[in-house]
Amino acid sequence: MEPFDFRGVALEDGQWRSQVRDVLGLYLQIPDDDLLKGFRQRAGQPAPGGNLGGWYGDDTFHVFGQIISGLARLHAATGDPAAREKVNRLVSHWGSCIEADGYFFYSRKPNAPHYIYDKMVWGLLDAHLYCGTPDALKYLSRITDWAMGHLDRKRHLGDTSTEWYTLSENLFRAYLITGDPKYRDFAMVWEYSEYWDIYARKADIFAPRPDGKQTGAYHAYSHVNTLGGAGAAYLVTGDTRYRDILKNAYDYLQKGEVFVTGGFGPDEQLLPHRKLVETLYNTTATFETQCGSWAAFKMSKYLMSFTGDARYGDWVERLLYNGVGASIPMTQDGRVMYYSDYRVSGAEKRNTGANLRWSCCTGTRPQVVADYVDQIYFKSEDSLYVNLFTPSKVKWSHKGRAVEIRQATRFPEDGTVEFAVTADQPSEFAIKLRSPGWLSAPVSASVNGHAIALPVDSLNWATIRREWRTGDRLSIALPMRLASSSVDPPRPYPAAISYGPVVLAFDCNNDNILAGIDLNHPEQNLKAVAGQPLTWQLVNDPSARARPFYTFHEGEPYYLYFDPSDAGSDGRPRVRFNSRWSKADRFHFSDVAGATAQCSFEGPAIRWLGFKFDDAGEAEVTIDGKVVAVVDQYGPGRDLPFDWSAKDLGPGRHTIRLQILAEKSALSKGRFINVAGFETPPK
Ligand SMILES: [Zn+2]
Repeated sequence: MEPFDFRGVALEDGQWRSQVRDVLGLYLQIPDDDLLKGFRQRAGQPAPGGNLGGWYGDDTFHVFGQIISGLARLHAATGDPAAREKVNRLVSHWGSCIEADGYFFYSRKPNAPHYIYDKMVWGLLDAHLYCGTPDALKYLSRITDWAMGHLDRKRHLGDTSTEWYTLSENLFRAYLITGDPKYRDFAMVWEYSEYWDIYARKADIFAPRPDGKQTGAYHAYSHVNTLGGAGAAYLVTGDTRYRDILKNAYDYLQKGEVFVTGGFGPDEQLLPHRKLVETLYNTTATFETQCGSWAAFKMSKYLMSFTGDARYGDWVERLLYNGVGASIPMTQDGRVMYYSDYRVSGAEKRNTGANLRWSCCTGTRPQVVADYVDQIYFKSEDSLYVNLFTPSKVKWSHKGRAVEIRQATRFPEDGTVEFAVTADQPSEFAIKLRSPGWLSAPVSASVNGHAIALPVDSLNWATIRREWRTGDRLSIALPMRLASSSVDPPRPYPAAISYGPVVLAFDCNNDNILAGIDLNHPEQNLKAVAGQPLTWQLVNDPSARARPFYTFHEGEPYYLYFDPSDAGSDGRPRVRFNSRWSKADRFHFSDVAGATAQCSFEGPAIRWLGFKFDDAGEAEVTIDGKVVAVVDQYGPGRDLPFDWSAKDLGPGRHTIRLQILAEKSALSKGRFINVAGFETPPK
């Protein structure tokens, strides 16, 4: 089976088409002169326009090539001629800035020449493929000559300053598109055998390798993105070793690295399991959303094509609803939702700050959003495959006869999906529907109102083969239910609740009350809210509601993963910090007035552990809902001893809560409050 490569497929009205259009609109409005400014300055040409700033202005992991690729793919996904025209203009002007030796960067000091070259190859190939951009391949050849002569070939494992190990994919693609063996040969220079081989051996990527060396963490996005190189190598060579690397890597990542959302790579790292679990307690940077979704989309598409197995589509679907699709709109000045935050202490969606304008994730965002269109349907000589359930249509030439299929659905709000067939002539073929891993019962189906059997084959496709005619209607129902998943089985927590492929997040004051959810039967504690799709309320506390993570807006607090258990892994009572705290080695800290830290404990006394600083502020302390003190953490130096405790609270369970105040001591240089933990005295 193979993808349609955008041809003949269109999204219809719905949230994904809206997102694709919003992204296209945003990238179309970036002034050409701004995008070209540095290239023109470097080439000594007149350079009107403004500096886009951030990573773009600094030539840091520069995204110009990805913006070209993204716009070219958005043109393929939507047919919008403005996207094609912009690609053609940008490539033409940029091409005029290439120097005689092929030097093509934004400045004289590109920070990661391998990375930036790779993204430029991407952009030029996609401009050629999807926009027919004149001279794109000519420019590609010139910059490749420069790269062959100048790129450092030390190839250190995990060198994130270059990400050299992601280069082979697009160079193999360049060979497939042009037939020029220089691209194939150059691609082979960048194969990442040291890492790919671990998957070929079905080994643990954190275990010692045959050479005795060992790696404790890998940069996450680029170590999934590099697997696209193995995918493209399989297309070029047909060597099944490459296919097996992808298959084994997929299974390895799903088993130990991927969260229920499809996201992965907390703090941008693939980590051993124990460390991965810990990150849910202390990092706001759980998933590099745009780049990570893009790498996973590519990997899944290769695997679906190579194996014909529908199970790889499940990852794409999870990321559509809970990864890239759940991100908030980016801003016109290039701030994007770089990270998704799954912290058990509660989190919010945020775009990056100004210093991260035009980051890597603004390069992958248009690429991955355009790819929604190319992930819905696949084809083979005799079958049409439906991977995603979403409003759309596909035109397919089956044995020379035109067939059009329209998919109408409100999925996932409703499990019903309708397909309407239009065919030139009656035509016998199979429609194969991905049978998702989350189904709570088999798919049921009818054709023209008559129930039919829908057997699922060994490759996870529910298949119906018949002679299709214009007016035929296939209707299916995909049964969904509430389900929980733990990151750390057999421990129940951290846990998250899903409905079908949709991960829910809780809107509630704190996650203590989520302890009431029976994780084996979440439907017993969660009641659907009438009139509000995919919304549930806690039976014991209707003020706590769960709804899809993708419905949360910027700044709306939520709990996606939760852990209402009282003790942390260090045996101390667990502290719940709200989203305004940062984590240092020894403590959490914040200087945001209103930031809260809360902790429940058993027994008559509690001690707050921390340090005094000369920039520390004041916090109001509440115990069991009553204000008991205002505590000043100021001290005339750094790291000074700090001691505060409350006694004689009576037996049983108590809750202490700190809230940072806007007021501070006149002596202090700031209003930071730190919390190393809370301690109950030994019994
Ligand atoms: Zn990124």
